[in-house]
Amino acid sequence: MLRNLPANFSFPLKTIYTTMKILLALVIVFFNFQTTFSQLRKQPSAAEIKLKLKKLNFLGSVLYVAAHPDDENTRAIAFLVNDRLASTAYLSMTRGDGGQNLIGSEIRDLLGVIRTQELLAARRIDGGQQFFTRANDFGFSKNAKETFEIWNKQEILSDVVRVIRQFQPDVILNRFPPDERAGHGHHTASAILAQEAFDKANDPLVYPEQVKEFGTWQAKRLYTNTGRWWNQTINETTPGILAVNVGTYNTLLGKSYSEIAAESRTQHKSQGFGSPGRRGDAAEFFEFVKGEPSTKDFFENVNTTWSRVKGSEKVQPLVDKLINEYKLEDPSSSIPLLLQLKKEITALGNSVWKTKKLAEVDQLVQDCAGLYVEVVANHFWGVPGQMTMTNFEVINRSKANVTITGIQSASASYDTTMTLPLKNNALVMFKSKRKLETNLSYSSPYWLKETHSQGLFTVADQKLIGKPENDPAIIFNFSFLIDGEKIQLQAPLIYKWTDPVKGELVRPFEVVPPVFVNLNKPVYIFRNQEPQEVTVLLKSASDAIEGKLKLELPKGWKSVPISIPFEMNKKSEEQSFNFRVIPDKEEANTTLKAIAEIDGKIYDVSLRTIEYDHIPVQTLMPIAKSEALRIDLKKEGSVIGYIRGAGDDVPASLRNMGYEVWEMKNEEVTAANLKKVDAVVLGIRTFNTNERIRYFMPELLNYVNEGGTLVVQYNTNADFEIDRDKFAPYPITLSRDRVTEENSEVRILKPNHPALNFPNKITSKDFEGWVQERGLYFPSNWHENYDALISCNDTGEPARNGGLLIANYGLGHYVYTGLSFFRELPEGVPGAYKLFANLVSLGKPKKIENQKKLKSKK
Ligand SMILES: [Zn+2]
Repeated sequence: MLRNLPANFSFPLKTIYTTMKILLALVIVFFNFQTTFSQLRKQPSAAEIKLKLKKLNFLGSVLYVAAHPDDENTRAIAFLVNDRLASTAYLSMTRGDGGQNLIGSEIRDLLGVIRTQELLAARRIDGGQQFFTRANDFGFSKNAKETFEIWNKQEILSDVVRVIRQFQPDVILNRFPPDERAGHGHHTASAILAQEAFDKANDPLVYPEQVKEFGTWQAKRLYTNTGRWWNQTINETTPGILAVNVGTYNTLLGKSYSEIAAESRTQHKSQGFGSPGRRGDAAEFFEFVKGEPSTKDFFENVNTTWSRVKGSEKVQPLVDKLINEYKLEDPSSSIPLLLQLKKEITALGNSVWKTKKLAEVDQLVQDCAGLYVEVVANHFWGVPGQMTMTNFEVINRSKANVTITGIQSASASYDTTMTLPLKNNALVMFKSKRKLETNLSYSSPYWLKETHSQGLFTVADQKLIGKPENDPAIIFNFSFLIDGEKIQLQAPLIYKWTDPVKGELVRPFEVVPPVFVNLNKPVYIFRNQEPQEVTVLLKSASDAIEGKLKLELPKGWKSVPISIPFEMNKKSEEQSFNFRVIPDKEEANTTLKAIAEIDGKIYDVSLRTIEYDHIPVQTLMPIAKSEALRIDLKKEGSVIGYIRGAGDDVPASLRNMGYEVWEMKNEEVTAANLKKVDAVVLGIRTFNTNERIRYFMPELLNYVNEGGTLVVQYNTNADFEIDRDKFAPYPITLSRDRVTEENSEVRILKPNHPALNFPNKITSKDFEGWVQERGLYFPSNWHENYDALISCNDTGEPARNGGLLIANYGLGHYVYTGLSFFRELPEGVPGAYKLFANLVSLGKPKKIENQKKLKSKK
């Protein structure tokens, strides 16, 4: 019931809590295709509406296929969507979890969440749709064979076939060729999968459970989106090539497709892909691969008119009329024809085009009426079974005859009928307080709800496969009568606020547990049997809760106290609790967990929020679990200077080892300050990202010369901010050599080197349990003054010996290492901790020897 309507509203109000569920089910089917969640509805301009009307008249579709966020050709997609008016989607095999992050320290699953949102942001600009498979980007792969073994080829193939059967593309475009020219194994694999799926999607015996849902589908043809990268002499006359000018200008949008593409590509900010807008003709080349040949046009011999839909004879003339009679100054005059069109399309038999075009028509009715519908919660979190306050805002900005007849949301126990006429430009606002359903699931990304293997995400609900992200947590369905016709529109529940600098901001409303439990470290290191403090931060998402908090520890470990009672009164309140944890005597590589108990129910998820300006706020709720290492880790020295590069979590890991870390700003790198630290570590890609490094590298090398230890982590060959002969005391040549098999054998080349013996003895056992890779961008050549300490390689490749190079320089030590410490340390890999402790302790044995000598002299 609408309890909080302003008193001055009087209209017949009848509340029903009955059989609208059937209607809701229909609505959900209808809107399945609009998978992108735009937060605040953006009202299109009259020119943009015209483009959308023209799109009603084109019934052709394209699926673009590649492996990662950023692989897709945004210019081709922008052109296909906005010039050819084709229904266009990008299927990315992965979410880009395995890459490096240029804007923050999130890696792996968290980075995958950022890149998923960057792809959605790109699609909001170029107008395409977005699909994914369940494949995890496990890092660089040298060939498709390895990729398929790790992904589980049959599972990913079934996802590609599923997307084809669901989306029913006429044309499939591969970004990559299906062979080693594609470079990355994931790239090659994406092309092989698309080619196989092209045939398999039409075979009813393949994945028959999908056929029941979507039927089979045969795309007309498949091309590879080739170019001068692969074929330097390619041009418009090359045999077997379709050449398309995608650099044309769209007068309704006021942009060229290259300009739209640049904006879209610039959304890949975590990869540093800011792109300039270009103007003028630009050719793209498509090499025919399979299906019915054509090098004249994508859609040759594809019926892209309404006549491809059975019984649509009355539709085509209506659409033509709509376009011809559209008035730029008065879009609402198109509403009667749109409503007539809706009736005709509704009467057609079921097909993918019926679903797509009905959704487009409903959206156009809303666009032409300037109808704004918004539902805002008074907090961004809601707890299942608890009350949530919602504010509704609805306005009709046209002369159309619009009446609200009902609002319904099953998950917010909302089901109301009414007759509320909406006068032209008269704002209607009301409030309501409702209880959220008790069985709602939490709003963390669906593919991260369960643990996953190295290559494949676990998705229990088959219906979610292919979707880019969760559906909004709470959806309100609005029923309108517009000029006598029923129209259904949806609005997701959102939260909005105003930032004094950035203006109005919006984030999704999320369903969360009443309390989050957060351990203060991802890894706890117990270097001996001394007890250590473990802090748990409780954050309340509910008013008035009380319960008890405890740690779940491995066998033989103890905590004091065993449990702690807590009481919190307000939403968003935080409280910290300390436990003293006493580890077992034996060395162990194990985990500990924090759990809160309220009224006999266990809550064990933590809160991880990702906030960047270019994507909506993302909330992850991983299990509150940390690595617990009981290792005999020895270290020397106490203060480490750290100079940040592209961003990594190594400083936290150093603190965890017992070091004090001074994160030095550029101007703090002075001879006087360097005297205060026991070693200096450069963050990953410092030479690529710190443009001032050239000015203080001489100071750092001088520090080494005078006895200091400098550990340089990996850099790539591109965008060097320092002369190549100035970053190391003796020449080093970087390469793209990497060792991606994290289990590859590690051969110790210099077993007696101090870095492998002091203070921790390093053996091949210390290279067990590494994650993702051994390392990357190893040097390929180095001066004879360097000792190469270890050797490893991927299967079938030559030995890579440049992973860990150490030179004595003056009285000190210079270390260059491409080993992936930045991945291993945050994951709690014991051997990586021992080896890194040795590297930063390198300068110390000599001093100890000197002290011994001094003592013996006395
Ligand atoms: Zn890629």
